[in-house]
Amino acid sequence: VSRPTASVEIIDGREAEVGGFAVRRVLPRRPRRTVGPWCFVDHLGPGAVSDEHGMDVGPHPHIGLQTVTWLVEGAVLHRDSLGSEQVIRPGQLNLMTAGHGVSHAEETTGVHTGRVHGAQLWVAQPSGTRDGTPAFEHHAELPRVELQHGVATALVGDFLGVTSPARRDSPQMGVELALRAGQSSLPLEPTFEHALVVLDGAVSVQGRPLTVGQLAFLGTGRDEVSVDVVETARLLLLGGEPFPETLYMWWNYVARSRDEVVSAHRAWTDRDERFGTVTSPLARIDVPGPEPARSP
Ligand code: MN
Repeated sequence: VSRPTASVEIIDGREAEVGGFAVRRVLPRRPRRTVGPWCFVDHLGPGAVSDEHGMDVGPHPHIGLQTVTWLVEGAVLHRDSLGSEQVIRPGQLNLMTAGHGVSHAEETTGVHTGRVHGAQLWVAQPSGTRDGTPAFEHHAELPRVELQHGVATALVGDFLGVTSPARRDSPQMGVELALRAGQSSLPLEPTFEHALVVLDGAVSVQGRPLTVGQLAFLGTGRDEVSVDVVETARLLLLGGEPFPETLYMWWNYVARSRDEVVSAHRAWTDRDERFGTVTSPLARIDVPGPEPARSP
């Protein structure tokens, strides 16, 4: 029995640029701001980097979120204000928890020459941890599970009996699916809402075509999703309990109000110790701040 395809919402991402590198931003978009606690998804590349043209993002701040970095090809060096210095390669996970404040830089120049392909995602932290201590984790290996037509790697949370070691502040999951030709029926947690993002190839989701640059939002209440692949495809499956709080996102900050963002950005601009210092050859990123809300 096929489910109604109308309940799959296909959302087009938009082209953007990060550190001189082309990305497709599929979240947040106008009709869909979050999927569980996932609040930002950039599909990086694929594209080439060299010593002349890298993906180099100078030191910049974050609050209230976790950055999740996942590569399919290439290598990127992460440095942060906690003193972390970590090269990430395909199949590994970098997870930085910003909490009250952290800053970091990401560099390919001097680290990697050739193709870079991957994703960077943000997870909104819940109120219980969002003002907490910053932290960084690198997972060199993640649990994998064989599917009938491919393999799944658990980035965050549980999938088909395996659990990622990555920190998780909310009920959520994130899995990479490397699929071969065939129809895959993937189990879902019905209390979670889910989305699929195509990193490579083209698929049908519940009969609806989905390609690179798009996100398929699946909503809650499903215990499985059907994905058809003609040749090969690589996807991210993201999910979580619908986030219970309304986010206020501006630049690199995930907050709950404009006042929080204004305060954080003043601390960054003033080089306050809240965001520490990143040891990096790249210049810090400074942007004009939002004006404080005027009182009536
Ligand atoms: Mn960042």
